[in-house]
Amino acid sequence: MKARRSKHNPEGLNLFDSHCHLTDNQFAGDLKLVVKNAFQVGVREIMVASQNIPDSKEAISLCSKFEGLFCSIGVHPHEADGFRSMDITSLKELCIEPHVKAIGEIGLDFFRNISSRSSQEMAFHAQVDVAKTMDLPMVLHIREAAGRARAILEEHEFYKGVLHCFSGDRKMVEWAAEKGLYVSFAGNLTYGEQRLTESAKTVPKDRLMVETDAPFLAPGPQRGKRNEPAFLRLTVLMLAELLGVTPREAGDLARENTRRCFDI
Ligand SMILES: [Zn+2]
Ligand SMILES: [Zn+2]
Repeated sequence: MKARRSKHNPEGLNLFDSHCHLTDNQFAGDLKLVVKNAFQVGVREIMVASQNIPDSKEAISLCSKFEGLFCSIGVHPHEADGFRSMDITSLKELCIEPHVKAIGEIGLDFFRNISSRSSQEMAFHAQVDVAKTMDLPMVLHIREAAGRARAILEEHEFYKGVLHCFSGDRKMVEWAAEKGLYVSFAGNLTYGEQRLTESAKTVPKDRLMVETDAPFLAPGPQRGKRNEPAFLRLTVLMLAELLGVTPREAGDLARENTRRCFDI
């Protein structure tokens, strides 16, 4: 796509926000404006991630209201205690909706442990199986649980998808690269943590993605405020600096990878 430079988009960026939560209550009052602002600064596509089954339905309905929106459906590890076998049926039924491009976010979060570890593992197993059956990529949320998450994916021998909001170490990057998984960086890339910036440089160029994870993790100068897809530019500027390319090249690269990952 030809990039249009403008006051709002000085670098002429074309971006894909690979993960955010537009169904979050924090956007209830001004969602239209949030989407408009994002498109104005060069965001072309947005992937809306889901937390549970009702949220997945809401995400699907949101996608039909705005051009350029797509979604992943699934039960987040924080919600795993409420996961039921009927959710598997619901997910399989919802997969046929045209805007559904992935299963997620799914995974393990042993950092916050909001749901028990055993329910998290059970829900993750079941949803990896759904993704594999439906041949859809997974949006993987893995925090302080790399070993177990890897073991589960290896058990299913299924590695299609993205490690979202990457916070792992070099070993995890190497494993992801070997398996062909994509790696997505959020606003925390701008917080100056060397482990993350080094990881971003190590990820194979054709596997790099960016996201806001809005309303969480606002990048750089926006840190602490409500995050929104329009702030993706700040993460892309950081990525460009790390890769030694122009912001436009960094944005194009990440967008192309995201479209390939989600088959959009
Ligand atoms: Zn997540
Ligand atoms: Zn998320």
